[in-house]
Amino acid sequence: MLKCDFHIHTRYSPDSNLSPDLIIKTAIKKKLDVIGVVDHDIFKGGPETKKLAAKIAPSMVVIPGEEIKTLSGEIIAFGIQNTIPRKLTLRKTIEEAKKQNAFIVVPHPFEKIRQGLGNAILGIKDDIDAVEAFNSRCFLGSFNKKALKFATENNIPVIAGSDSHFDYEIGSGYTYVDAEPDENSVLDAIKKGRTEIGGKITGLKPHFRTFIQKRLSRD
Ligand SMILES: [Zn+2]
Repeated sequence: MLKCDFHIHTRYSPDSNLSPDLIIKTAIKKKLDVIGVVDHDIFKGGPETKKLAAKIAPSMVVIPGEEIKTLSGEIIAFGIQNTIPRKLTLRKTIEEAKKQNAFIVVPHPFEKIRQGLGNAILGIKDDIDAVEAFNSRCFLGSFNKKALKFATENNIPVIAGSDSHFDYEIGSGYTYVDAEPDENSVLDAIKKGRTEIGGKITGLKPHFRTFIQKRLSRD
């Protein structure tokens, strides 16, 4: 089983300060085999991290993606080639993602305060490849429970992620995937539901630091 954290942000997200180098080194320390690296509304940190990992940690599988803000909330698209613009309708965003053959994940779906889709997820049920049924930054455990219940009832595969914006968060939410250590095999195994999820809630501190980071990056 591969240990994966599918939700890590780089410094290309306005609320993170993580360099690709620090992400890779921390992931190695945390014994992760696979990392999903996404940024808010830009497809940049993931590809950069993947390129660097090929040089300094060739056994690490990096799956690049983008966490896109739609008019209804956020989705994550892995396996894309170009940035998908923000603030399109949810349907249009799904269409754009599909044009790029994306693997579509709905992060923290029921946490409306953090851009979760809420009930809008019902309209894209058939387009989703996986639901993030555990997110370490969820304010309330009940949001994660609701996500897991939704995914189970609708027979949608589940993954977990830390939603890391700082190094100490990396690996706090994890998914075990029964796959070979390469991107296609991992995504394929998720689609077949060969995952187990777990992790711990990182608490309020990371949220607070994100707030500070946002303030700083505005200057
Ligand atoms: Zn995120």
